[in-house]
Amino acid sequence: MSAVGAAVDREEQRLTELDSAVGDADHGANMRRGLTAALVSLEREGPGSPGAVLALVGRRLISTVGGASGPLYGTLLRRAGKELGTEETVDAARLRDALRAGAEAVAQLGSSAPGDKTMLDALFPAVEALGESGTDFAAARAAAEEGAAATVPMRARKGRASYLGERSVGHMDPGAASSALFFAALAETAEA
Ligand code: ADP
Ligand code: MG
Ligand code: MG
Repeated sequence: MSAVGAAVDREEQRLTELDSAVGDADHGANMRRGLTAALVSLEREGPGSPGAVLALVGRRLISTVGGASGPLYGTLLRRAGKELGTEETVDAARLRDALRAGAEAVAQLGSSAPGDKTMLDALFPAVEALGESGTDFAAARAAAEEGAAATVPMRARKGRASYLGERSVGHMDPGAASSALFFAALAETAEA
């Protein structure tokens, strides 16, 4: 989560620029506000398991981010955290399954599916690219980045960008770009 926070700090402006083309130019600020608050809470509360870490970050995103991305990412992480339970250590295959359940919860909350030009276009391919063992972190990162790039020619069917109709074509979805940052941070951390 620290690596995700650092990536969002670095890329805040790019996320906001993407959102200025198809939305309301706040995605960078939304992500930064949420993750900053989440990292403060992690420091303060020191949750004792990976599941509790994800659940706490999810709750903070929901409580601090006004935009759609708060409840959506919040649901992803709360659901993934719930799947991991309270065990002190979890293996990569369980993390993959938890992230898959989280992505499915996002799709349910957003009534959205891959192809709608949202974060799901990065999340689902990335989770699957983690592979059988759940340890193909570099492949997951590449799949998330490809998934984000693949949103460029799509027409948005969900979220603010959908108000633009045909004019949403030709721009990367901001949430798909921030999802790629999550998987880039995961890959960086796993390699370190
Ligand atoms: P807002 O649109 O409220 O300003 P953000 O700009 O922070 O919120 O986040 C926008 C992102 O949220 C989009 O780029 C998209 O990836 C994601 N999003 C919006 N609506 C949905 C949905 N129904 N399902 C999945 N993702 C969505
Ligand atoms: Mg926005
Ligand atoms: Mg907004």
